[in-house]
Amino acid sequence: MKYTIDLEATASYADKYNEPCDCLYCRNYHEAFAAAYPEIIKILQDFGIQAERPLNIIECYWNDAKDKRRYESYYSVKGDLQEDKLEFYENDTVITLYRYDTDAPIYKNTGMEKPYFILAITNIELPWVLSECPID
Ligand SMILES: [Zn+2]
Repeated sequence: MKYTIDLEATASYADKYNEPCDCLYCRNYHEAFAAAYPEIIKILQDFGIQAERPLNIIECYWNDAKDKRRYESYYSVKGDLQEDKLEFYENDTVITLYRYDTDAPIYKNTGMEKPYFILAITNIELPWVLSECPID
């Protein structure tokens, strides 16, 4: 096993670092993510992660076709990861696991105590589902 997870501590983790953000882009992520990526939601559940409590959501403008919005999101998992930068899932989206002491320039502000690791989801593309539109 390349990692161990404390499911209960991960599932109950809530502090200022993963307080839900209320901006338009984050709200769109929360509204659209589960329907767009049911497989990823299942993976998050296997880690004990609450999908609605990311550490950070990075919104990266429209895709090239300008019909979907690009995102990255970061979650923290209570547990021990043996191998840094572990590519866990690669499909249309990518999930990479990072040790708490990684040298990768990722978002990793968390209130969790060591050991923990960061689960990063990149290459997310979501439709815009809110009635309110982004200004760009
Ligand atoms: Zn936000």
